[in-house]
Amino acid sequence: MCGVFGIFGHPEAANITYLGLHALQHRGQESAGIVTSDGERLTPHRAMGLVQAGFTPADLAQLEGDRAIGHVRYSTAGGSHIRNAQPFAVDYARGSIAVAHNGNLTNHEVVRERLEARGSIFQSVSDTEVIVHLIAASTQTTAEGRVAEALREVEGAYSILFLTESELIAVRDPMGFRPLCMGKMKHAGGEAIVVASEPTSFDLIGATYVRDLEPGEMLVVGPDGVRSSKPFAPQPRKLCIFEHVYFARPDSLIEGASVYEVRKALGRKLAEESPVPGGTDGGDVVVIPVPDSGLPAAIGFADRARAPFEMGLIRSHYVGRTFIEPQQSIRHFGVRLKLSPNRAALQGKRVIVVDDSIVRGTTSRKIVKMVRDAGAKEVHLRISSPPTRWPCFYGIDTPTRSELIAASHSIDEICKYVTADSVGYLSLEGLVTAVRSIERAAQTDGREPGQETYCHACFSGAYPVAFAPAHKGRQLRLVAG
Ligand code: AMP
Repeated sequence: MCGVFGIFGHPEAANITYLGLHALQHRGQESAGIVTSDGERLTPHRAMGLVQAGFTPADLAQLEGDRAIGHVRYSTAGGSHIRNAQPFAVDYARGSIAVAHNGNLTNHEVVRERLEARGSIFQSVSDTEVIVHLIAASTQTTAEGRVAEALREVEGAYSILFLTESELIAVRDPMGFRPLCMGKMKHAGGEAIVVASEPTSFDLIGATYVRDLEPGEMLVVGPDGVRSSKPFAPQPRKLCIFEHVYFARPDSLIEGASVYEVRKALGRKLAEESPVPGGTDGGDVVVIPVPDSGLPAAIGFADRARAPFEMGLIRSHYVGRTFIEPQQSIRHFGVRLKLSPNRAALQGKRVIVVDDSIVRGTTSRKIVKMVRDAGAKEVHLRISSPPTRWPCFYGIDTPTRSELIAASHSIDEICKYVTADSVGYLSLEGLVTAVRSIERAAQTDGREPGQETYCHACFSGAYPVAFAPAHKGRQLRLVAG
């Protein structure tokens, strides 16, 4: 997964983009980059690691111009190399263009083979690079025409920003897998347009949220203002429901709906569907979140279950990546470094632990043990989404099927593996109903979204866009996103 940010018409474009990327850091920590334009030429800077580590004041100072795009990239198993860091910036026959992409293209291998057969030479293993080659090969006379023509060739998920010398172009794929929103930002010399994966940066930079881009919408921001068009054949909306479950920041809005409110609704629904065995009347039940991912859902669960919400696990905010290999003598090191049990809240209690998802099951297992070792009488694990059974091909870094515990184990088997007294997941129907209830409240257009308006392939296996045969066989870990 990745995050993108763009700005047009601000004298401090690089600095604002740097701040914008900070507020999107949760979407990717592997690399960060910014490309600016001063109207005549593009200037790039990319670095591995966090935004904070990647830019010195001198790096930012040389990024001249009043327009910029930026990117943060999520770490994946393969392809951790500066070559794959975005935005990509290239010079071609008609000028220069930079690109920052969130999502994954499902037919990029097929397109790449075709382009290579025609003589294109690729520099990275990223799916995004095929778009750059398609733009360079286009015969359209305008940048937006070339971008639209290139994107008509690709399939899958893209919320994508392009920067030419003179324009910022923002596009959301026709199914709208990934979010993308726009805002406005006043400054001494006028008003800048900003676009971002999520509006989490808008308060920080003093911008106002205007709206989300619609699926299939292209926004062209230039010296003459903003133009919107829909250059693709319409498709059914397939917003990634996992953005609401886990990926987006809780203070975000996706298509106007508060992610925080959605997550609380998931917790309430989960409490209805999967109450704690024996009820909550004994006065010894506590609901605790796995911080931070399970926090809003645990608030909703405690509210509906009428049980006290407690901070049973305390998270250290100072743990980055650790490169120390845990030894046998200190197993569970990774989780213990990040989470500590709060005995005062756990001792002698029947504890309901709420988290957003189980992927491999290793984290849950360690947490259940930690809570029990701290004196809990019972440990009941509640998950605010359905079992994750299928890999994602549209930008979330979900592992292969063989690594997903729910792909090969029943809920009872998962319960045994994580050593909980009970495990309960939210149903797919419950998930969709809860998300829809918050979306409906945020909508003014009377649209009635149903289950089919979300991508929930990671839970259901119902992939909205077929992927090239190579993906099926190899279960690729795609590298952009
Ligand atoms: P595990 O079951 O040990 O593999 O880890 C599960 C935890 O990872 C969940 O509690 C989520 O908060 C988090 N998680 C879920 N999906 C992802 C993802 N695609 N990338 C990183 N973390 C994730």
